[in-house]
Amino acid sequence: MDLKSKLRHVMGFPKEGIDFIDITTVLQDPEAFRCCMDAFEELADSMENFDIIVGSESRGFIFGAPLACKMGKGFVPVRKRGKLPYKTISAEYDLEYGKDVLEIHADAVKPGQKVLIVDDLLATGGTAEANIKLVEQLGGKVVGLVYFIELSMLKGREKLKEYKVNSIVTF
Ligand code: 5GP
Repeated sequence: MDLKSKLRHVMGFPKEGIDFIDITTVLQDPEAFRCCMDAFEELADSMENFDIIVGSESRGFIFGAPLACKMGKGFVPVRKRGKLPYKTISAEYDLEYGKDVLEIHADAVKPGQKVLIVDDLLATGGTAEANIKLVEQLGGKVVGLVYFIELSMLKGREKLKEYKVNSIVTF
């Protein structure tokens, strides 16, 4: 299936001049969603074996949690500041449009655990770097990062040179 053609481009969201890629058109199409999850599984399978999937708020949850369940792995949510109930560690990061802080539960990744990071889209790589920082601070090993969409012009991959990065579609 041509998943690229199932994505909706929204011009001017969230700011003028941005071509936002909307994944909801894929999610609401059962065949496209299944095809996307199968493609995620194939990419995840091509990575070194891993124990858990880490996905960040909020679109990382949409793909990360079902992929973890499908593959028999655990899922760990990374959230915006103040949302997680237990003890957390945090990492600041640059967004494509601003700055933010991400947090993870301090006991969510055990030392030596192998982690796959999942998100909907790789742009500048700032979110990915913050996720990696959080996992590595807890002693986890990032085996790779998988994405539905990669915006190659924003060169996120260059920031992640030391890691294996796979994406389903590239613009
Ligand atoms: P980065 O940190 O790599 O610059 O930006 C990636 C993050 O921003 C991802 O978590 C992603 O959800 C969000 N993002 C940025 N641009 C887009 C877009 O055009 N479409 C979608 N769906 N997410 C985006």
